[in-house]
Amino acid sequence: MTDISSRALPIDDDLATVDHAIRTGHMIGGQWIESDETFETRSPLNWDSGPLANVSRGDAKIAAAAVGAAVNGFEVWGSWTAHQRAEVLHRLADLITENTDEIAALETLDMGFMQESMRARLVGRGAVNFRLYADLVVEHAERAWNAKNMDHTVQRMPAGPAVVITPWNAPFMLSTWKLAPALAAGNSVIHKPAEWSPLTAGILADLAQQAGMPPGAYNLVQGIGSEVGAALVADPRVRRITFTGSPETGRHIGHAAAENLVPFTAELGGKGPLVVFADADLEAAAHRAAWQFDDSGQVCLAGTRILVEESIRDQFMERFNHHANALVLGDSRRSDTDIGPVVHPIHLERIQSFVDRAVAEGGRIVRGGSPVEGSLHYQPTLIEPASNNAEIVQREVFGPVLTFQTFSDEAEAVQLANSTAYGLSAMVWTTSSERANRVGRSIRAGLVWVNTFLVRDLTAPFGGCGISGIGREGGDHALDFHSDLKTLMILDDTVS
Ligand code: NAP
Ligand code: MG
Repeated sequence: MTDISSRALPIDDDLATVDHAIRTGHMIGGQWIESDETFETRSPLNWDSGPLANVSRGDAKIAAAAVGAAVNGFEVWGSWTAHQRAEVLHRLADLITENTDEIAALETLDMGFMQESMRARLVGRGAVNFRLYADLVVEHAERAWNAKNMDHTVQRMPAGPAVVITPWNAPFMLSTWKLAPALAAGNSVIHKPAEWSPLTAGILADLAQQAGMPPGAYNLVQGIGSEVGAALVADPRVRRITFTGSPETGRHIGHAAAENLVPFTAELGGKGPLVVFADADLEAAAHRAAWQFDDSGQVCLAGTRILVEESIRDQFMERFNHHANALVLGDSRRSDTDIGPVVHPIHLERIQSFVDRAVAEGGRIVRGGSPVEGSLHYQPTLIEPASNNAEIVQREVFGPVLTFQTFSDEAEAVQLANSTAYGLSAMVWTTSSERANRVGRSIRAGLVWVNTFLVRDLTAPFGGCGISGIGREGGDHALDFHSDLKTLMILDDTVS
C-alpha cells in the first residue's frame, strides 16, 4: 500500500429500483416460465441490502425445452426473407432506444456499471448492433460467377438453433452484439446470460417479443453455467454456439462443440499491452493509460500491461499518477463518480489474491493494492513486477490492476507485447507513421489501436489470437459464422 490513491465517495443506501418490471424467469417458445429453484442476484452498489431478485435456476429439462422451442422457432424465422427479419430487428432497435433509461438503471444496479456510460454509450450501441446486422443481411449480395462452364452462386443458409452464452461484464451490450448476427442470419437463439448480472437479459427478451419475433425464435434461459449452460451446449439439436467469457469455460464449451461437430466462436480474455514510445503524445498516452481503470478494469480489451520507453519513464509516471489521482470511486449512479464497484465479493477477493501473489513474487506496488473499506471498490492499482514471467504480467486479473514495465528499444517493446498466451488487443502510442505500421503489424493480436482505443467500425473483424479466442465476429464475419455456406452450380445451356 502507498499513500497515492484515488478519492472514494460514499454510496447512497437507497437502492431505488427501476420502472421496468424485473423479469426473473425463462422465455421459452414465447412464454415466460419460472423454475421452482432460484438463484439470487445482488447489487454490488449495496451488497448487504439483500437480493435484487431471485432468478429462475434452469436445469437440463429447461435447456431441452428451450432447444425444442428453438427448433420450432427456426422453422418459421429461418424461412422469412432477409427483409422481413430486418424489419423486426429495426423495431427491436427502436424499442431498445425507447427503453434506454430503464436498461441503464437496471444494469447499473445488477453489476455496478457506470449508469451515465451505459445510457450514453452502451445501450445505444446495443440498438446499433441490431440495426447494423439488419442492414447487412439485406444489403448482402450473393457472390456469383461463371467458371468451368457453370454458373456458381454462394448462398448463406441459416444454420439452425444457436446458443448464445454471455459474461457478466457489460452484459446488455455484449448480448446484443452476439444475438444480432445470429438472428439476422436467420437462426433461432437461446440466450444464457451470466449468473452475476442476469437481469437486463429479461428486458431484452421482452422487447424482442414486442418487436414481433415469432414464438421460439428468441428464447432466454436463466441459470448456472455448469448446469443449464452445460446442458444447452451439449444438446445435439444446437447448430451454432457463440460464447464470450473466460478461457477456462471456453475449453469446456469447445469439448461439447467437438462432441456434436458444431461450429463455435469463443471471445475470451485479454492481457493487452499499452506501448508508449518516447516520441508519443505523452499527455494523451498517460491519460488513456490511467483510464484503463475504467469499469474497474472489468474490460477484456483493456491495456493492462503498460510498457514505456525507458527514457520517458519518470515523465510518464508523473502524468499517469496525476490522472489516476483524479479518478473518483463511488456510486455508479452519480455523475461525479468515475469508477464503480467490482461486480461481486468473490471477484474482489480474486483481485486481491492476484495482488498478494504479485507482491509475494517480488512485485512492487506503485499505487493502490487494496479494496476501499466498506464497499466493493478496489483502489486503482499499479504494480512493477519482479519479472516479465510474473503471474501478474502473464494472467488476466479483470480488475483495476495494471502492470508497469519499461523497454529500451522497439524490438524489446514488440517482444514484451507478444510475450503472453493472450492476443486480444493492443495499444501503441507513437507519432511516427513508420513505427505505427511496423509495430502495429508485428503485434500478435486481433485488434491493434494506434493513438486511440475501443472505437472501431463494426463491420471490421473482432476476436483474439492464442487463448484470447477462436474465430472472428463483427460484420460479415459473424454472418458467415451463423450461416451454412452453399455453392450452387448449374451447367451452362442446360436450363432456360
Ligand atoms: P465465465 O465464467 O467463463 O462465464 C461466461 C458465461 O459462461 C456465463 O454465462 C457462465 O455462467 C457460462 N458458463 C460457465 N460454465 C459453463 C459451462 N460449463 N457451460 C456453458 N456455459 C458456462 O466468464 P465471466 O467470468 O462471466 O466473464 C469474464 C471473462 O469474460 C473474462 O475472462 C473476460 O476477459 C472475458 N470477456 C471477453 C470478451 C471478449 O470479447 N473477448 C468480452 C467480455 C468478457 P455463470 O455466470 O453461471 O457462471
Ligand atoms: Mg448482480
